Amino acid sequence: MRVCILGQGFVASVFGVGLERIRAGEVEPYGVPLARDLPIPIDDIEIVGTFDVDPTKVGHSVAEVARRYLTDVPALLDRVPVFRGVHLGSLDGTPVKAEGIDRDQTLRECVDTLVLEYERLAPDVFVNLCTTERPNPIPDRKALFGAVAKDRRKALTASQFYFYTVLRYARSHGAAFVNCIPTAIANEPALETLAAEAGVPLFGDDGASGATPLTSDLLEHQRQRNRLVTSIAQFNIGGNFDFLTLTDPGRNLAKEKTKSAFVRDVLGYDPPHYMKPTGYLAPLGDRKFVAMHVPYRSFNEAEDEIMVLARINDSPALAGLVVDLVRLARICLDRGVFGAVYPVNAFYMKNPGPAGKPAIARTAAYTELRAWLRHKTTPTVADGGPSGSAAP
Ligand code: NAD
Repeated sequence: MRVCILGQGFVASVFGVGLERIRAGEVEPYGVPLARDLPIPIDDIEIVGTFDVDPTKVGHSVAEVARRYLTDVPALLDRVPVFRGVHLGSLDGTPVKAEGIDRDQTLRECVDTLVLEYERLAPDVFVNLCTTERPNPIPDRKALFGAVAKDRRKALTASQFYFYTVLRYARSHGAAFVNCIPTAIANEPALETLAAEAGVPLFGDDGASGATPLTSDLLEHQRQRNRLVTSIAQFNIGGNFDFLTLTDPGRNLAKEKTKSAFVRDVLGYDPPHYMKPTGYLAPLGDRKFVAMHVPYRSFNEAEDEIMVLARINDSPALAGLVVDLVRLARICLDRGVFGAVYPVNAFYMKNPGPAGKPAIARTAAYTELRAWLRHKTTPTVADGGPSGSAAP
């Protein structure tokens, strides 16, 4: 199965390196939830190309980029090229002087250029790992189509534009879209419906890899014991480029939304909470510092509290999930399950699409995902959420 990555950063680099090391038998697939439990072996995953807009990455190989982040980069990744993507202001306000094909081409021309490139690479699955974007709602399909047709660059983020190009490509070659970043794609009803109609399995939004799934499981634990959670504080400080970009308030807002999407869904009420990436500290590198504080009321008004401190390697946590997500995407393509696939999203995504579906505890989502995988032979409306995205 062939995979194309959008955004050749830290997560994409760990993903490529980890895959090759698993293939070579150098490492076990720890951190991949369904490592050996899917009908598609990890060895079948092939990265065919990636897209970026950082001029120091474009035109190089994935191996060359990965060597900036990691040692022991397998030479096989020298064969995988990094192509130039669309910028649409993704990296504005950061130290990177980005250059996309949109510098010299209209949006329509950019669509043609990218779709031609996709047709050459023939990927089955696209994984969006671009820099976190500021929120940008798309009210309806006309807004998306109109922005491309009329070259309205400010109306679209790069992720929304890439999604559009994948819809176009999917007309001639089935493809899935995995959105690991906070931008609403699976949660944007207009886009979700388009995916269902175009036969595109859609996973999103924002990979649930670090403190968020742990917090949601802690809250479920409290709910099951009928304890009253009185507040939640969750701090995240990291030293990678993603944390640097999250010091921009607009980008941070997007993250905050997906990070706190589950509180009311799990508890049934909304205690005061503060959960968002809180700072950038270069010496921490990719190993972020996480602190969590969950005070609660118990029997006879006893006041208790849970505190968690952790150092977590940020990028491998998501890269391990991507190993499952691309294989699940291929399975959905084979089974004709299109649109936002809630049983997958509920486990792997912070803000699981489609819109309106709850962000349940991961322990519960895991059991449901396994049941869905075991029993599912005929797609039903429930597989794709309220819009009924299963193929005939
Ligand atoms: P990163 O900054 O290392 O990589 C992002 C890459 O995207 C960079 O190479 C950048 O040049 C590229 N990029 C930016 N705009 C682009 C565009 N328009 N087209 C193509 N490429 C573009 O970040 P990362 O740590 O790899 O994280 C990637 C994404 O994953 C972020 O959006 C983050 O919110 C999301 N995410 C990460 C984690 C995690 O690391 N554990 C968890 C959940 C979600």
